[in-house]
Amino acid sequence: MVRLARLREALSVAEGDPELVRSQLQAFGRQIPLLYFILLVNTMAVAITHVNCAPAWLSIYAPIALCALCVIRCVRWWRARHRVLTHDKAVPELRKLIWLSGIFGIAFSTWSLLLFPYGTAYQQAHVAFYIATTVLGGVFCLMHLRAAALLVLSIVILSFATFMVFTGSPVFIAMAIDMTLVGIALAFIVELYYQTFTGVVHAQSELLASQQKTQRLSDDNFRLASIDSLTDLPNRRSFFASLRALSEQALGSGGSGFNVGLIDLDGFKQVNDIYGHASGDLVLQEVGVRLLALAEPGIFFARLGGDEFGVLAQHKQSNETLVELGQRICDTLSQPYRVAGNVAELSGTIGWAAFPEAGTTVAQVFERADAALYVGKESRRGTPVIFSTEHETRIRRSSLVTQELRHADLDSELFLEFQPIYDVISQRTIGLEALGRWHNARLGAVKPEEFIRIAERTELILRITEVLLHKALDEAARWPAELYLSFNLSAIDICTSARARRLIDIVQASGVPPHRVSFEITETAVTRDFEQARASLTMIKKAGCRVSLDDFGTGYSSLSYVHRLPFDTIKIDRSFMTDVDTNSASKKIVKSVLDLCRNLGLECVVEGLETSSQAAVVTALGARAVQGYLFSRPMRASAIAAYLQTALGQGYAVEGQT
Ligand code: C2E
Ligand code: MG
Ligand code: MG
Repeated sequence: MVRLARLREALSVAEGDPELVRSQLQAFGRQIPLLYFILLVNTMAVAITHVNCAPAWLSIYAPIALCALCVIRCVRWWRARHRVLTHDKAVPELRKLIWLSGIFGIAFSTWSLLLFPYGTAYQQAHVAFYIATTVLGGVFCLMHLRAAALLVLSIVILSFATFMVFTGSPVFIAMAIDMTLVGIALAFIVELYYQTFTGVVHAQSELLASQQKTQRLSDDNFRLASIDSLTDLPNRRSFFASLRALSEQALGSGGSGFNVGLIDLDGFKQVNDIYGHASGDLVLQEVGVRLLALAEPGIFFARLGGDEFGVLAQHKQSNETLVELGQRICDTLSQPYRVAGNVAELSGTIGWAAFPEAGTTVAQVFERADAALYVGKESRRGTPVIFSTEHETRIRRSSLVTQELRHADLDSELFLEFQPIYDVISQRTIGLEALGRWHNARLGAVKPEEFIRIAERTELILRITEVLLHKALDEAARWPAELYLSFNLSAIDICTSARARRLIDIVQASGVPPHRVSFEITETAVTRDFEQARASLTMIKKAGCRVSLDDFGTGYSSLSYVHRLPFDTIKIDRSFMTDVDTNSASKKIVKSVLDLCRNLGLECVVEGLETSSQAAVVTALGARAVQGYLFSRPMRASAIAAYLQTALGQGYAVEGQT
């Protein structure tokens, strides 16, 4: 039973093995011309030697018909040689080839055995030789098609051996035995070869499968490595790869160049703080969708990280087009976002730079787009800004200041001025705000807004804060005990608990009681990392120092900060004072902040009072602590003693007060 099953398997097509079927067809296709060449040459040779001794139908017409069959098959093979068959079609094709091999085997054997009785012993030997060489050649050509090879071998050998045995000639009987034994050996060779062939095909297909799997994995990895998983936009790495490719292309071909845009969201941090990070993620996803909707041929968007996105205009655009595209981007980003059942308002600012005009390297053009974005964020939020030479001057100045600041002897170049904080009710100075000053040999006096902003970007601010805090505390130690020191901090100063700890340590080591020290922090600094800011400010507060919210009203003015952070004081920004005595809106704002502070039990300092009329209005609204040029400009430490003698001693009378 087992043998029969193996025989059936040997004579059938491996239907369940598409790879093997495909390889068999391919290998067999390559041997076909050789197979028919052997058949044609051998058949013609035998036919020629028998023309004179055998009837014409046997020596001329039959071989011509057989050869014609071979030629027809050859032509059909030639025509279909490039055809690629699906597995469904390859199996019947293979089956057809096996049957055709059998039919050819029967046809050629029959013809040669019919021819055998004619002619001399030599001619008979030629027929025997013909059968032997043809079957050998045929079997070798059919090696990859085990079923066809075995079929042909058995048909030819069986018919030949039987025929020879019946002749009764001992020589022919010996030949029959010989052929049969050789045939059996050949069958084994065919089997062995076929096994090796199948093994190689399987090994190759496994190798191919593993290569494809590796390729798929590496394709997946590449995709993951270049796509931002939150927004599905290309990520920073992919953005820079495109930037590099575009710059190489532009420099190589002398092409017109391209434009780089950097987009930053305004108000995103507030969404994160107020609604949580999950909502923040939803907003970023929505931003991704909106940006993708604006993508068009040659315009690509990417997420560079956080709330920063990039855009590449592959072909250089005119300034008008960039402004128009930039405005469309800003407009789409400022549409309301639905988060956690609420509606969040955000806006986007975009800075554009052109390659190679704004920068001839990837880093340079990116930096310039960043500079344009910076200018936009400072003065033109929610609009596109194109990098210009004015920004260039700003960058030069900025890098000059950075350089000087890096190499400055901060201990000797930095100093402080102090501006009194005055209580209009008690008519006494209650504290002094320390304001940083930097005098550099090369740059002269640099405004605090400028050097502090630059220092904040380079983290040099940490060192600056330490130097100034030491100096401020040294001065404060000499003031009357009822005066407090108000000291400005930057966002970076409170961005880790370790830094907050360092500030506390400096205060504690100074000998100035912590309750006499108030740290001022702006709203925008707090919003950088709300949770960390809260942790740091709480630490400072626990150490006994006071905490003030500076420049209130200039940031996002979210009253939720006042509730959620441990402030003692709110300082109303001086921008409201300019028209507080003439503009009822400004007056209302100041009044509502004063009321808020009163209700929450917070101290309120009104900054920037320059005229007695402004002072009269704010005091009438209930302000008590005030600060401004009207009372005193910031002064050198050495001038404080003289000032205190006047202000503390006799007080300062404010117009309209009794
Ligand atoms: P600020 O903390 O709001 O400081 C008040 C600013 O308003 C000071 O400018 C002060 O000179 C100015 N000022 C005071 N009264 C008036 C007035 O009546 N009219 C006008 N027009 N201005 C007035 P300054 O010294 O140029 O400082 C600017 C800003 O730089 C400060 O604003 C503060 O945010 C920052 N800053 C100053 N010193 C330091 C510091 O040591 N560390 C940090 N991190 N920031 C500092
Ligand atoms: Mg301040
Ligand atoms: Mg202020």
